[in-house]
Amino acid sequence: MIRDPYAFATLVAEQIVKGLGIATLPVDPIRIAREREIEVVAKPMENEGVSGMLVRYGNEFAIAYATHHENEGFENFSVAHELGHYFLPGHVEAVIAGDNGSHVSRAGYSSGDKYEAEADRFAAGFLMPRYLFFPALEKAGSGLAAIQILAGLCKTSLHATAIRYTQCTRDPIAIVISRGGIIDHCFMSEALKNIDGIDWLRKTEGVPRNTATFTFNKVPTNVLHGTRIEETSNLQHWFGGSRSIEISEDVVGLGRYGKTLTVLHEIDIPDVEDEESEQSLIESLTPRFKYK
Ligand SMILES: [Zn+2]
Repeated sequence: MIRDPYAFATLVAEQIVKGLGIATLPVDPIRIAREREIEVVAKPMENEGVSGMLVRYGNEFAIAYATHHENEGFENFSVAHELGHYFLPGHVEAVIAGDNGSHVSRAGYSSGDKYEAEADRFAAGFLMPRYLFFPALEKAGSGLAAIQILAGLCKTSLHATAIRYTQCTRDPIAIVISRGGIIDHCFMSEALKNIDGIDWLRKTEGVPRNTATFTFNKVPTNVLHGTRIEETSNLQHWFGGSRSIEISEDVVGLGRYGKTLTVLHEIDIPDVEDEESEQSLIESLTPRFKYK
């Protein structure tokens, strides 16, 4: 199994939020920053990819966050990402050279940079700490509808909430982020990873052609206008393997972000024992021919 080398940053964030005595969602990163005398300002950024900045002047810090996505969830994530650089050991020294300067962030862009990846994990844990997120998840139902409820509670983006959902749920589910016919990335819950005989969806692989997501992505306005559909699909179409099982496929356009979120859920895998007894039943009913 592939372990996430940056996962500790999520735990650091959860400990901080817990230590502040926060007992209800949402966690407000702007308020928490200001309570620590960190100035927080909204700022239109010229570069669309820039999510925010951490500015250092000696022992004083300020955070600027981008507003061009017009998305409160993205803004909260951007501020929490900068708090990650502020709180995580070694970050300030690594991302800002000297006592005065600034760091420009690309939150949520999975750039491969260690510090950016850690700050993203920190932001997820900060806004969606497991001790508050999991109890809410258990009440939220299933699929995209549940993720939308949780995003509303946490004031987080659908994308970030969906990723966190796969990390915290006990159900076998997967979320897929795609752009056009290409899969950008995919996250599977532990329960789904533990099922034998299914393949990982790999980055840059094509969206399977016989799925609702493939058809959905052919219409650009679906993505732009945040159209939402609930369809059914087949486990094999997405993950290969030998089991032909109907599953739920919820799809939503992520707006200006230009990507599509697919939630694959209600994946009822029969127990291995049931499958085996079914197999022996089939064998017992199959006429046997004896050759002499
Ligand atoms: Zn950063």
